[in-house]
Amino acid sequence: MLSEFGLIDQYFYRHYSDNKSVKLGIGDDAAITTMPPGTDQVIAIDSLVGDVHFRKSTSAYLIAWKALAVNLSDLAAMGATPSWFTLALTMPDVDEAWLTDFSKGLFDLAERFKISLIGGDTTRGPLAVSIQVAGFVPEGKALLRSGARPGDHVFVTGHIGDGRAGLAVQQRGARDDAEYYLLQRLQQPDPRVIFGQSLIGVANACIDISDGLLADISHVLDASEVGAFIELDKIPVSNACKDKYKSLGLSRLQLAQGGDDYELVFTVPEEKLDTFLSACDEQATDVTEIGIIKEEKGLRCYQDNQAVALNQIGYQHF
Ligand code: ADP
Ligand code: MG
Repeated sequence: MLSEFGLIDQYFYRHYSDNKSVKLGIGDDAAITTMPPGTDQVIAIDSLVGDVHFRKSTSAYLIAWKALAVNLSDLAAMGATPSWFTLALTMPDVDEAWLTDFSKGLFDLAERFKISLIGGDTTRGPLAVSIQVAGFVPEGKALLRSGARPGDHVFVTGHIGDGRAGLAVQQRGARDDAEYYLLQRLQQPDPRVIFGQSLIGVANACIDISDGLLADISHVLDASEVGAFIELDKIPVSNACKDKYKSLGLSRLQLAQGGDDYELVFTVPEEKLDTFLSACDEQATDVTEIGIIKEEKGLRCYQDNQAVALNQIGYQHF
């Protein structure tokens, strides 16, 4: 049986990769970090609890991946460059096969963005994973929810609704390639970290889509004290989702209300539109304009030029 120190050494310390911001990582009572001059530090934390946020039968690889991915998505939404993270792991017992898989999922994603694990805590109890991340942005330049202005164009990255469709697939089991794709989009999101950084100085406001596109847009509208017109027909949907959403018992509106997409929704002012769109073209970034910010408060959605009634907008945690 591994001791607590043996466990940390084997599964977390051995994989420790060095980020310039880390002066002292795992092993002492606390870690020591620093930041590039002229930057603000950006910090987020998110917890995933077994049987609430994932099924306990989900592979440890995917649990770890998602726990880090949802945090990296928050950094992406602020336009931050990731620097380090800490991990609080609560588990019922020491299962070495589980830990091997967990550690692999964690570091496969961490290495992509050169973010270092600098410390954490390991305790016994019902399975839960908390990850705290830190990154940095040029001083005063972080992308906030509160910056949207009337006339801004509203964009999203990638495709919306795969998360909701993936959840429906998970409930009944995947049966073909399209369904496996949707399930993978739910379980192994690809946070828009690099793209988020490129929005600094371009987007007026930004948020990542975790609660559902419409709920998350509403957070931007509330923080910015503005409203928006959103055209549901313009919301980009993947081919797999297009093929499957009806047979999964979902509507286009439900795709826009579902959560777990981990794409970004952001607003770009008219005067920056041309530069923004040509940069997207050059980098082959898939962005889609879905609406416009208005002075009159509230979210108004349209489908085939008809107003759509919105009742429950997104995922509620309580
Ligand atoms: P202390 O008793 O001083 O809080 P611990 O015994 O909890 O220290 O941890 C020893 C070292 O291992 C610390 O540097 C801590 O940050 C690190 N650590 C503990 N658990 C984890 C974990 N799950 N992931 C990464 N580092 C961890
Ligand atoms: Mg100590």
